[in-house]
Amino acid sequence: MIDPHVHFRDGVQSAKETLQHGIEVAQLCHFNAFFDMPNTMPPLTDEKAILERLERGEALTKGELFYGVYGGITTDSDQVREMVALHQRLFPRIIGLKMYAGHSTGRMGIIMVEEQERVYETLTEGGYRGVLALHCEKEELLRESPNHSLARPPEAEIESIRDQIRLAKKSGFEGTLHICHISTKASVELVNEAKRGGLKISCGVTPHHTLLNASDSNSKDNLLKMNPPLRQEEERQALFEALLEGSIDWVESDHAPHTLQDKREGASGIPGFRGMLLLLKRLMGAGVSLPQLERLFGGRVCEVFGLELAVKVPTLEQIEIALEGARQSYPWDPYQALH
Ligand SMILES: [Zn+2]
Repeated sequence: MIDPHVHFRDGVQSAKETLQHGIEVAQLCHFNAFFDMPNTMPPLTDEKAILERLERGEALTKGELFYGVYGGITTDSDQVREMVALHQRLFPRIIGLKMYAGHSTGRMGIIMVEEQERVYETLTEGGYRGVLALHCEKEELLRESPNHSLARPPEAEIESIRDQIRLAKKSGFEGTLHICHISTKASVELVNEAKRGGLKISCGVTPHHTLLNASDSNSKDNLLKMNPPLRQEEERQALFEALLEGSIDWVESDHAPHTLQDKREGASGIPGFRGMLLLLKRLMGAGVSLPQLERLFGGRVCEVFGLELAVKVPTLEQIEIALEGARQSYPWDPYQALH
């Protein structure tokens, strides 16, 4: 299977997890391909950092697994042009480009709509036709609140998606927009409406947004803190149903492990592979067919990115074994509430 959204750690972040550990757990969970996000330390926003990261990942995956990275986009138009050229030269090792339309972890946010517009113009002028993955949370709609789900409300995501669709159309963007980790029903509707209108756009959902809700997160304090945050139960149900209906393109873990100390101090993100398997199991239980599971866990990713990678869904027995191994691989289990 493919996990098209992971935040592997390494180097100065090795206390959270090493690249080797992340890859081992992913493999244990039956993933043979993963796309690593660019908000690493240092960030993957220039050729040197990208090549170093690729070499490190490829040395560990040894050609047996697929390891690709996203190039990060900044507000500097020259840097955006460099990323377009690098993507052209190194695809699929550089699988696509990523823009943070709002701050998350790593302060890579491009928060002004005018700056986002310039990114679209530069990508379009440069003839970029790859995938532009987007973290959508509109900065001006975020609030001060000790409750993370209220601090980053649904409107922030929905309005940012609306902005991206408008800007992509206005600039004549020729690539594919991918809206990462959607967390609301309205987001799914917006994406599907744009798709019906002929825009090349896809969306992914995480296991945590389809299996857990905001009340789980309140009871666990920071341990279930992530961006975008967990939502109300109605949203969770609607996302799960959207997966069953086929109106969400794929599942992505947003795997982002931390030490317990970092979590206590407010870090956003949770380990993600175990959630992927729990969601897979839940979908099997809901009667989703094998071809549809293969589509959600990699088939559709291959189609959108133009890749030929094997997608093999594990059996229930293999899932049970992997679930236990993955639980023991991290200092806490975000899915404890499910049991
Ligand atoms: Zn992420």
